[in-house]
Amino acid sequence: MRAVIKVGTSTLTYGNGNLNIRGIENLCKVIADLKNSGIEIILVSSGAIGMGVGKLGLKEKPTDIPSKQAAAAVGQCELMYVYDKLFAEHNHIVAQILMTGDDFSHLDRYENFRNTMDKLLELNVLPVINENDTVATGEIKVGDNDTLSAMTAVGASADLLILLSDIDGLYTADPKTDKTATLIKRVNGIDDNIRALAGGSGSELGTGGMVTKIHAADICEKAGIDMIIANGADANILYDIFDGKDVGTRFIGKAQ
Ligand code: GLU
Repeated sequence: MRAVIKVGTSTLTYGNGNLNIRGIENLCKVIADLKNSGIEIILVSSGAIGMGVGKLGLKEKPTDIPSKQAAAAVGQCELMYVYDKLFAEHNHIVAQILMTGDDFSHLDRYENFRNTMDKLLELNVLPVINENDTVATGEIKVGDNDTLSAMTAVGASADLLILLSDIDGLYTADPKTDKTATLIKRVNGIDDNIRALAGGSGSELGTGGMVTKIHAADICEKAGIDMIIANGADANILYDIFDGKDVGTRFIGKAQ
């Protein structure tokens, strides 16, 4: 079993950009344990900009590109420092891979990316992937890590993509505003109805909302990869997923 797990800024940091220590410690422990059980895992992690904002003591996420890129440069360093430290406690080695959208359309770079991921997994290393935010702007960027994680899942020929978010999954309506909203457990093929359910929301420091998640599901579906959206507030949910329990929303890769 090879799985790509994506964690968003909202899972890793508090709204002010400071590290959610309890959340990230538990996440690293669970992923380390799942790796010990034999599951191959690739982590796509956001949080560079959010953590940079926290580390630099900025009052809010900057809007201009140079400040965002500076925050990402500071935050990416901090992010990897934290992962390195926490995974080392469980005897796991992490590796950083930073990608831009451009890298996926250059055949030789894409090939190198795939080969490096394969080699790292063979060496039992945990690849930690993020967009190379300090150089990726305008047309060359992927733009959000939901899409990046789907592209990674395809590149890694993964069996499953898990998007850990601050929401339980895809709802029939926006649960923040509509009390009658219910969780959709399974999506067998993305159609216009499903696309229409994706609002535009996202958290303060992160980028993606449901729109980018549906886009990610689209990419996975075409490649025959299952994708699950689940709430990352408690990383133990990953155990439930790999135990085959019915959590979150599962998008079936091979529509039946
Ligand atoms: N690459 C961005 C970061 O690490 C996040 C993008 C996203 O959350 O979709 O801050």
